[in-house]
Amino acid sequence: TEEKSLNFLEEIIEQDIKDGKHPQIHTRFPPEPNGYLHIGHSKSICLNFGLAARYGGQTNLRFDDTNPTTEETEYVDSIKDDIRWLGFQWDNERYASDYFEELYRMAVTLIKKGLAYVDDSTAEQIALSKGTPTEQGRPGPNRDRSVEENLELFEAMRAGKFPDGSRTLRAKIDLASPNMHMRDPILYRIKHAHHHRTGDAWCIYPMYDFAHGQSDSIEHITHSICTLEFIPHRPLYDWFIEKLDIFPSHQYEFARLNLNYTVMSKRKLLQLVNEGFVSGWDDPRMPTISGLRRRGYTPESIRDFCDRVGIAKRENIIDVSLLEFCIREHLNKIALRRMAVLDPIKLILTNYPEGEVEIMEGENNPEDPNAGTRPVPFSRELWIEREDFMEVPSKKWFRLAPGAVVRLKNAYIVRCDDFTKDDEGNVTEVRATYLPESRSGEEGSSVKVKGTIHWISAAHAITAEIRLYDRLFRSENPAAEEGDFKDDLNPESLTVIPAAYLEPGMADADPATKYQFIRKGYFVLDKDSRPGKLVFNQTVTLKDTWAK
Ligand code: ATP
Ligand code: MG
Ligand code: MG
Repeated sequence: TEEKSLNFLEEIIEQDIKDGKHPQIHTRFPPEPNGYLHIGHSKSICLNFGLAARYGGQTNLRFDDTNPTTEETEYVDSIKDDIRWLGFQWDNERYASDYFEELYRMAVTLIKKGLAYVDDSTAEQIALSKGTPTEQGRPGPNRDRSVEENLELFEAMRAGKFPDGSRTLRAKIDLASPNMHMRDPILYRIKHAHHHRTGDAWCIYPMYDFAHGQSDSIEHITHSICTLEFIPHRPLYDWFIEKLDIFPSHQYEFARLNLNYTVMSKRKLLQLVNEGFVSGWDDPRMPTISGLRRRGYTPESIRDFCDRVGIAKRENIIDVSLLEFCIREHLNKIALRRMAVLDPIKLILTNYPEGEVEIMEGENNPEDPNAGTRPVPFSRELWIEREDFMEVPSKKWFRLAPGAVVRLKNAYIVRCDDFTKDDEGNVTEVRATYLPESRSGEEGSSVKVKGTIHWISAAHAITAEIRLYDRLFRSENPAAEEGDFKDDLNPESLTVIPAAYLEPGMADADPATKYQFIRKGYFVLDKDSRPGKLVFNQTVTLKDTWAK
């Protein structure tokens, strides 16, 4: 096999290894537990875990839990489930909140070095005094406070002596820097809020920039990989490491994964959940890992997708049809073939003996020689798809129509004789004669047929609810439109078929098994199923049918 060329991160790591820079590489995946993981996160997961695996290193799972008001243990648990499901196992489970004491001591160190000060301004006043990229910031009255006073005030902040928002700790760097992040950034803010792990032990919390890099350093992360918007944060990341003289982790940036016809910010996904536009984080239309899993996506298909997307240094938007291509590729190999009629009409074989039942044999998977076969009962009255019959056939019509001949999958060839309609003109019943010699697998039929259709024996059919999905949004980039992104939701993203007909063997359908309903797409049993009431989700259609 051809060796794939290295991406820029692999090049960097191979060079570092050659230079003997680290005994072992160490990466981390650092989610904030403020929502469920989405397909964008899987890109970062595959990258961080993949690099460590490739170069014999380790990966930490670190919860970036420095914002008590948005973080919850439910999210921590779902994140761990999703990472394991994707096929990865972290070497160490860490929490930024484990480092609150150490981070506090680092802040004290900066104060003692004259590199941090307590500011009595509010966050709004600070933002104003920072200036603009073209106009430099103004020093506030507290910038030259003595070390002693700063130490006392910072300790009092920690001790809960001040109300929320009344003071901050800021780094003393450069108010004229062209990089706004270097203009005396805030390190700590006061927030009397309960934290999902530390409870009420703290009422000051470190900002992302002060927590992230030092957490990397504490864990001896060698390659800290994040998305492009953190490029301007890198000088600050390096500044803390230099001034604190701690383990030199390095930050590298790649382009985040964007997908069309969906949104990927947790804030927006949370809105969809909270405002009831979807049934939950794991609604099969959601771009979350749990939604994709419930929809019937496999970990293999998502890893393949991330691999095909590759690592870029420029922002781009990936077409969701690539994701669908990846799942079709995998399901084609593993899905069990079954028949299901989603929009039924009756087909009566007038010359087939009443009461007779034959057991036909259907292949489980033509792509897999070891998959075997299944029995499928056949009888005089069958369900077929309404769309497989045409009263007045068009020119290239190879399915049922008066006088036309088709094969019933795994069974006989039939010739359509006539049909009946109701008062509204809907076809209610189609009648045909079957050719007794034409049973599949037996010789004897010289009749040539151009079409094969699927069917279910009416006497043996079981019913199931089937949920069909379309894109969650009507526009390619809902986030870019003016106004509310929710105005762009696709009102037809979910179609429920209350009672489709399935082969009787599907009564034992298993949630871990993937199915292809032949000619209809790939399906998976949904968690809403109950004994006697099956529910299936359509994972994806058989072909890319999306008309642009
Ligand atoms: P959101 O904007 O959805 O809240 P986030 O970046 O704040 O996303 P985190 O929980 O902080 O979410 O992300 C954890 C890790 O996953 C980070 O390293 C982040 O860079 C990465 N990540 C998040 N979204 C994407 C994406 N779309 N593509 C690639 N990596 C991503
Ligand atoms: Mg984040
Ligand atoms: Mg975020």
